[in-house]
Amino acid sequence: MASTALSETLFTIPDNLSVSQFMLDYQHPLRPQRGDTPCFTDDDSGQIVSFDQVKLRTQLLAAALNTRYNVYYAVATWSVHQIGGVVTPANPGLTPDELCYQLQITKASFIIVHSAAVITAQTAARKFKFPPTRIILLDDCEHYDLYSVPELISEALANHYSFSPKALRPGEGITKLALLMLSSGTTGKPKAVKIPHRAIIANLVQLAIHHQVYKYPIGQRRGFRCGDTLLGVLPFFHVAGFLLSMHFSVFCGMSVIVVGRYDFVNMLRSIVRYRITDLVIVPPQAVALCKHSAAKSYDMSTVKCVIVGAAPMTKEVNALLFDIFPFAQIGQAYGTTETPAVLANVSFEQQRGPVGSAGKLLPGVEARVVKFDGTFARPGEPGELEVRCPNMSLGYLDNEEATLETFRDGWLRTGDEVILTKDREVFIVDRIKEFIKVNGYQVAPAELEGCLLDHPDVIESCVIGVPHDYCGEVPLAFVALSSDANKLIRQNPSASRAIKQSILQHVASNKVNYKHLKGGVEFISEIPKNPSGKLLRRVLRQYAKSLRKRE
Ligand code: AMP
Repeated sequence: MASTALSETLFTIPDNLSVSQFMLDYQHPLRPQRGDTPCFTDDDSGQIVSFDQVKLRTQLLAAALNTRYNVYYAVATWSVHQIGGVVTPANPGLTPDELCYQLQITKASFIIVHSAAVITAQTAARKFKFPPTRIILLDDCEHYDLYSVPELISEALANHYSFSPKALRPGEGITKLALLMLSSGTTGKPKAVKIPHRAIIANLVQLAIHHQVYKYPIGQRRGFRCGDTLLGVLPFFHVAGFLLSMHFSVFCGMSVIVVGRYDFVNMLRSIVRYRITDLVIVPPQAVALCKHSAAKSYDMSTVKCVIVGAAPMTKEVNALLFDIFPFAQIGQAYGTTETPAVLANVSFEQQRGPVGSAGKLLPGVEARVVKFDGTFARPGEPGELEVRCPNMSLGYLDNEEATLETFRDGWLRTGDEVILTKDREVFIVDRIKEFIKVNGYQVAPAELEGCLLDHPDVIESCVIGVPHDYCGEVPLAFVALSSDANKLIRQNPSASRAIKQSILQHVASNKVNYKHLKGGVEFISEIPKNPSGKLLRRVLRQYAKSLRKRE
């Protein structure tokens, strides 16, 4: 078992603060003194807000929400926390049905949304019979007759609303929820992960120790230093973007350039424009940095730290990154939504993480590797990684079965096969759990299989991930067709193409784009199952490999 020597330093994880108080008010001993730097900068408009402005606006928005609405009608992250609410971040690209699913399982009662996604929010909200006042715009947009965050802030300012953020009792942060993030865990459809305030605060403290931000606060050719500038290309609704780009960087006194919509060439421009020092990216963005011809035309010498996470990065890309940023600190971050968000990361002592390493376990993370025969692995032997740590979530909302499957006796099964070295370096061997990672986003096969069954020609389906040069993996669907569809194909073989096309289109119309079947559709007479009816994905993975070899 790889234990931690740093447990004594972890007493500094407060359990009586909300994330908002921790981020905005509390002077944690590990926290560098903030310089007078911008906190968030809008990548498109260049609009800057300082840390003090963020703090003031959060309080004003919380005051406005508190005055106008009920406590649980929560909206923007820190102001929602200040009024005691819980946030469930959502991808603005979701279809209305996908958003409905999230609203339903999280029981969300309020939506705060950018004007670009307001139609989706309104369509979903209608299903839940939300009054229109329960949708608030993030930005000012006169096309919609809805309140906006800037309006509410002005209203609070004009009316001198006074407001005291909700204080937590000692110990309350351990169980009081801050976030409900969606993850499908080891199997099945997406579930809402119950993330308490202290788990997020703990991860920030663990990262601060790991990166020694308190010892060498400024300058260093290391990541996450006060006064540095991070390009926030990972969306804040993604657990890694939420924790590293939106929280840890601000904790460290950095400025964050907030990117609304990712575009690779725009990302290169922003690196130059804002003299970016720190990048937190997903493997497809690392692939583009290494292989896209445009990358050579931009001066990226200001970059001194590149962290790649959320999905596996190949050794080839890892090595290429070293060549592109010869002086930067480079390494991976590894974690799960259930341990929001980081379990392992390149550490302060490492200018470079070893090629292929997903990072060194953070202080406070106890780890054991369980071999497939149920015994514990020794360092260097592969097996499933299980962890016990202060940054652990509390299970899945309203889903005891899935909770018991993943959280056992205080340990969390990560569903990842790893090799753990003596010095706590993690090497990912394989993913045991079902989900597919496309561009760093989770795709739950069970969700797509349910969607495929709604297609009139499909009677059975099984979705697996197949390797993809850029996205990492993409979903491929095996489907068994109805007897009518089979008959049609027998009579007219060219119907097969039209049916495939219609199945692809069906998924494309019902799901956000990263869930589309970019790996294709394959017809199969019957989906292989074990005697208890469980789909044998392993068999189909092998079959998919053989199909690719034949191509
Ligand atoms: P999520 O809950 O969406 O953050 O997904 C967590 C899963 O993504 C992990 O259990 C891994 O399977 C995978 N993952 C995250 N980071 C890495 C990494 N650096 N290398 C390989 N796989 C990763």
